[in-house]
Formats: sequence, structure tokens, C-alpha cells
Amino acid sequence: MSATRAEAIKRYPKLGQLIAGEMRYDRGGSTIEVIDPTTGLALGAVPMATEADVDESLAAASKGFDIWRKTSAFERSNLMRKVADRLREKAETLAELLVLELGKPWREALGEVDVAAGMWEWAAEEGRRAYGRVIPSREQGARQLVLVEPIGPVAAFVTWNGPLVTPSRKMSGALGAGCSIVLRASEEVPACALALGQIVYECGLPTGVLSVMSGDPVMMSGKLLESPVTRAVTFTGSTDVGKLLSQQAVAHMKRPIMELGGHAPVLVFDGIDVQEFAKRAVAAKFANSGQVCFAPTRFYVQRSLYGDVVEAMTNEAKQIVVGCGFDPKTQMGPLKSERRRSAIEQLIEDARQRDLRVTTGGRRIDRPGFFYEPTIVADATTEARLSNAEPFGPIAAMTPFDTYEEAITLANRLPYGLGAYVHARDFETLHRATNDLEAGNVICNGWRVTYPETPFGGYKESGMFSEGGIEGLRAFQNVKYASLS
Ligand code: NAD
Repeated sequence: MSATRAEAIKRYPKLGQLIAGEMRYDRGGSTIEVIDPTTGLALGAVPMATEADVDESLAAASKGFDIWRKTSAFERSNLMRKVADRLREKAETLAELLVLELGKPWREALGEVDVAAGMWEWAAEEGRRAYGRVIPSREQGARQLVLVEPIGPVAAFVTWNGPLVTPSRKMSGALGAGCSIVLRASEEVPACALALGQIVYECGLPTGVLSVMSGDPVMMSGKLLESPVTRAVTFTGSTDVGKLLSQQAVAHMKRPIMELGGHAPVLVFDGIDVQEFAKRAVAAKFANSGQVCFAPTRFYVQRSLYGDVVEAMTNEAKQIVVGCGFDPKTQMGPLKSERRRSAIEQLIEDARQRDLRVTTGGRRIDRPGFFYEPTIVADATTEARLSNAEPFGPIAAMTPFDTYEEAITLANRLPYGLGAYVHARDFETLHRATNDLEAGNVICNGWRVTYPETPFGGYKESGMFSEGGIEGLRAFQNVKYASLS
């Protein structure tokens, strides 16, 4: 049962930094206000890490790695299972933080906690299966072994749109593989990552294995990547920042694990049930106010059903109840920030200047906070900004196509390659499109993209390496060849 806003605000925690297992408050340095997107008012202020804090977390990660890599995979797994259980026990407390900091509806917030718990559970299980192999030797009596080992201390950077799932992905993957980790939490939503870090320590993590703090991104990435302590960097955020961090990482020969932007195409072919499609497409599109890297954003619809699909999706979008996440009727909350709302407004202004049809939405909502209407733009041309720039907000762009080849060309024309969706009845089309789409995640006749046990990563400029699945742990592991004669 969701709390009231007022009660939840009273419970919003004092924010600090979790360095080497210890929560520290009031360090006398600078702070940044955490803004409630539902009202535009401050919820609290998060202290920014100093260079000394980062140095301390690096020293702790180095010592922590020595302890954690020698902890048996069985013990690591047991601890991580406890984290999953604890997340579920504290689901309502964590969901409150998610609604306050991100504005997402209560039911979605509870869903995020459950997904995060599932990630911990998966990494706990999979961490026990860092199997190597024996390669038959050419030499009599020699043994040739392939060993899988943790890569070393990890530097992690996360954005704000999944305040619990994104830190969970990074922490559970790194810890499951046997690595220590220093995580830079988003200063826009720090409470969830801090609460998660505290839970991991409550479950018995040895001191130093994990640190969580916010701080100036350039200072922190500079120090964490230049340090000889760290061996890999994992980042979730935009392609532009991902490129910068990758260059820094490679300059110091650190493995860059990059989960970056997307602008997911949806190919819609003749023969589908239009009403059913529209209902589910709109639910997927406007989840988390469209602030999802794999959200469906570019809808390419076969011309014979284009008009019907635009109309059905418009009708569905008009019915979305927008409001405060604590209100049980709310289906979509605000955008996270004024910055995001202005970006959406600019895309719509460009669409209007090009005489594209805004069939519903297209305006900010006149109330406190950063609310924007669920918006559908029909007849989007390839020149329109929203057909090119990742919207990361509540806009769906609709475009008709005539042939399969044209649909694939439109889908693949951007440098992004994260999510892609195909809706069709005949197997031949689904089969061909699965092969032809340049994306790390191709979802046919459905909308759910990630599960803890499935890999998630981008093609082209959407990323490098995967999170989740077996691949999510492999990204944090080295392969060693050993020969015994
Ligand atoms: P952003 O890249 O601008 O910022 C992300 C985070 O990186 C922020 O916390 C920011 O402070 C920090 N940052 C900025 N410069 C940095 C630097 N030099 N070193 C280290 N950190 C730095 O992205 P954003 O606009 O806040 O987030 C939205 C983007 O994230 C979208 O492109 C979205 O698609 C992407 N995203 C990708 C995934 C994925 O798994 N592929 C998941 C969620 C979001």
C-alpha cells in the first residue's frame, strides 16, 4: 500500500557518502540539492566527494579486492542472496525513495525493486559458475588449464533513470565476479544507491569492497580511471559521455563496459491486432515517462494499417493518467528535471516547424514539477530532430513504410543499436528482421527487454559488452591460461 507523499517526504533520509563501508555525513564540503520532480522542490542535499574521499575509496577497493577475491564463490553467493531477500523485505521503503526522487508511479517503483532483487539473485547463482576448462595437451603429462578470475577493482558510473536497478546491475555483476567496486551515484537520485550500499554491508560484505558516493563527474572519472588500482570501468549514460570515458579508460588500458543511449525502432507489419498492439505499445512507451534507454521511440508502420495504428495509439495515450506517483490512479509521473522537459519541448517545437502532426500531447502540464503530456507525433520525416536525437521522454514518433527493406533501412539508419521491436504475424518476417536489425536486443511480438538472466547490451554507438546474463559477469572477469608440466 503506497504511503502518502507527506509521510514519505518526512522519511527521506539524510544523505551521505558510503566510503569503505562507513556512512559519513556533514563533511563540511560542497553539497548538491536533490530535486523532487513532482514539485520542483528540494528533498535534501547530497555531499559531494572530495579528491581525498576518492583516494580513500580507491585504497579501500584495493584492500577489499584482496579479501573478496579470496572469499569463496559459495560465501559470496550466500551474501548476495541475502541482499536479494533484504531488498524484497524493504520493497516499500525503497519504492518510496524511487517515487520521491524519480517521480515514477508506485506500482512501477515496486516493480523496479523486484527487478533489482532478481539481479542480485541471478549474480549470486551465476557467480558460483565461473567455470574454467582443461585443454588436452600436446605434451605428455602436461595439464593445460583455462581459469576465470575477477578482473580487479571496478569504477562504476550511473545515470538517474533507474536509481535502484542500474546500481544493482553494476554492483551485483562486479561483486558476483569477485571484484570490489567504487560507484559514483547520480547526484540527482542518490538515496537508492546509498540505501542499496548499506543493505549490502548489513548482509555482511567485508569492509572496503564497496564504496558509493556522488561527486564532480570529471574529477571522479579522472581519478578513478587514472588510478592503477582500478581495472575496469562500467558506465550507464549517454553515448557522448560514454565515448569520453571509453577514451580515458583505453588510455589507461582499463576495460570499458559501456551501456549507452538508444532510439529504439518498432517495425509494425500487417496482420497484427491493432487495438491490442496500441494498448501494449503505449504502456511500454510511456513507462518511466519514456525515460528508458530501450523505450520504443520510432514506430515504423506498414502503410495499410498506419492510420489505424496512429489513431489507436493516440486514443490510448489520451487516457493515460498523469500525476503524482503516490496517487494509486497515476500511470505516468513527471520527467526527472527541467533539463529533460526543455529537451522534449525543443523536439516538439522542431516537429511543429516541420508541420508534423502532433496527434495528442505536445505541451507541458500546468502544475508544479516537471510534467509533460504523453505525446504522439505522426508523419515523422527522417529530417525531423525527434527521428534522430534520442528523445528519452514521453514522445512516440510515427512513420509509414511500404516495403520490408524500407522498414529495415529506416530502423538501422541511426548510429544507435540498443533495443528494436518487431510486431508481425508471419514467422518469415520475424525471422528475417531478427537477423537484419542492428541492435543488441530484438524483441518480437513483445515489449519486455531485460531479465536478470538475459544479456543486455548495445550494438554500434549504444555500447560495449553486456550486463545481465552470463555475459554480465564475464565482463568483469579475466581469462587466464595456465600450463602445469
Ligand atoms: P549523461 O551521460 O549526460 O550522464 C550520465 C551520468 O554521467 C550523470 O550522472 C553525469 O553526471 C555523469 N557524467 C557526466 N560526465 C561525466 C564524466 N566525464 N565522467 C563520469 N561521469 C560523467 O546521461 P543522462 O542524460 O543523464 O542519461 C540519459 C542517457 O543514459 C540516455 O542516453 C540513455 O539512453 C542512457 N541510458 C542507457 C542505459 C543502458 O543501459 N544502455 C540505461 C539507462 C540510460
